[in-house]
Amino acid sequence: MVRLIEPEHHLSLGDYEAVAHLGAAVSDLRHEAESLRSAVGTRRVWMVNSTPRGGGVAEMLPPLINLMSELGVDARWLVMQTDEPDFFRLTKRVHNLVQGHGEPEITEDERGLYEKISYETAEAISEYLEAGDVLVVHDPQPLAAGALIRQELGPDGLVAIWRCHIGLDEHSPQTRTAWDFLCPYTEPYDHAVFSAPEYIPGCLSGKSTIIHPGIDPLSHKNRELPVHKIVGILSNGGLTGSAELVPSPSFDHRAKRLQPDGSWAAATEPEDFGLLYRPIVSQVSRWDRLKGYVPLLRGFSRFKETLGDLDELDELPRRTLERVGLVLAGPDPTGVSDDPEAHDVLDEIRQAYMSLSPEIRESIAVITLPMASAKENALIVNALHRCSDIVVQNSLQEGFGLTATEAMWKQTAVITSEAAGLRQQVRPGLDGHTVRDAEDPDAIAGALHAMLRDQKRRELLGHNAQQRVYSDFLIFTQIRSWLELIVGTLA
Ligand code: UDP
Repeated sequence: MVRLIEPEHHLSLGDYEAVAHLGAAVSDLRHEAESLRSAVGTRRVWMVNSTPRGGGVAEMLPPLINLMSELGVDARWLVMQTDEPDFFRLTKRVHNLVQGHGEPEITEDERGLYEKISYETAEAISEYLEAGDVLVVHDPQPLAAGALIRQELGPDGLVAIWRCHIGLDEHSPQTRTAWDFLCPYTEPYDHAVFSAPEYIPGCLSGKSTIIHPGIDPLSHKNRELPVHKIVGILSNGGLTGSAELVPSPSFDHRAKRLQPDGSWAAATEPEDFGLLYRPIVSQVSRWDRLKGYVPLLRGFSRFKETLGDLDELDELPRRTLERVGLVLAGPDPTGVSDDPEAHDVLDEIRQAYMSLSPEIRESIAVITLPMASAKENALIVNALHRCSDIVVQNSLQEGFGLTATEAMWKQTAVITSEAAGLRQQVRPGLDGHTVRDAEDPDAIAGALHAMLRDQKRRELLGHNAQQRVYSDFLIFTQIRSWLELIVGTLA
């Protein structure tokens, strides 16, 4: 029902300090954490979410927990689990409704199921708790479980904070249905945290704070990779033809690629899509409809189709643009427990891909990445970002969009939609290029034309983007905000 997770994060603050440009951020954090830590004292901080792997929350928790611990706060991680697949189907629908999508109806039977599993989860979490602990519950899945525990233990027994990573900056029948469902469970909480002020629902307006997510600059996902490592990682993943595959005895580490005939296959020979020698546009995300993969495929196809119309192009840029490849990558859906829609979304992508002409299909690689090892997965994402000329995040809705932050940190130019979470990160024309309508193929094609034809602009945007992440979206800022919030809630 609930599992204690050892965060896979093996870096100390000293490791960050040793990297010249990170030193100042870490010493500021150490300094400020000094008094905050003594205010937290011996209370333990429990982070609870619904998956140990896959998605932004699972990505952020390990460094957050480990570095908080190093700063002297006893932080730990619990992941809720259930054998009831309908529970995650329901919470996925609630997730989509909060983001403004789906049928705006939740039945009493569904509420019954949600509460039944929440009771069981609450009991399992309670086994770990001691008086005075701090419970930080992430997203809707464990929300009601946290509410039950907080109600049971009272204000002296527990401080409970709900961290909601999703949200929408508009009201719709969908968001009203979602919040009608969720609001009763938020009531017992002492405080809530959102990624943007526009996301705070009426029921939490008096007790919410904004904390921007942050990335770990030295994680396998974000650290510098020399060229030979990039080649090795892509090659081992079966994604380039430039080196020999090294089979792993413990797990199948090869990515699977959608084949021109619509089937999925792992590379038996190293595949040669040309990741290393053609211009690459990529999007790496979960297989979620709201990530806008299908519109991106259509936009890319429109970009390719319209190359012939551009008679002002001289021969060299035309040949370069004709070679541009699109990579759509995401987790192997068999390895992610709380995302039941992934198979359906992949199938929709497969259908959209099959509807394209064979020539355009040849310039597209749809890839599922092995999830057996978090490290391998992260390194492939890192290498993909680094061999991309442009990273796209075409989300129809986005709570924040760590994928964009990760690419920005690597100085890769980004094209993003104007989903609210992405607007928090990308100032149009300064840190990246934004597309007004993520579902409009012409708008996407236009953005690709503008960016792919202007290397100087890509370099400038990439440079600014890294600065932006450095000042606002690194893990150190986030840890400080959490410590301040916890101490403020204890007061
Ligand atoms: N991610 C990953 N492997 C994948 C696909 C995505 O590690 O195959 C990571 C991605 O790098 C990012 C996170 O999952 O760190 C996604 O976070 P984001 O905030 O962009 O979206 P979410 O999944 O939380 O909606």
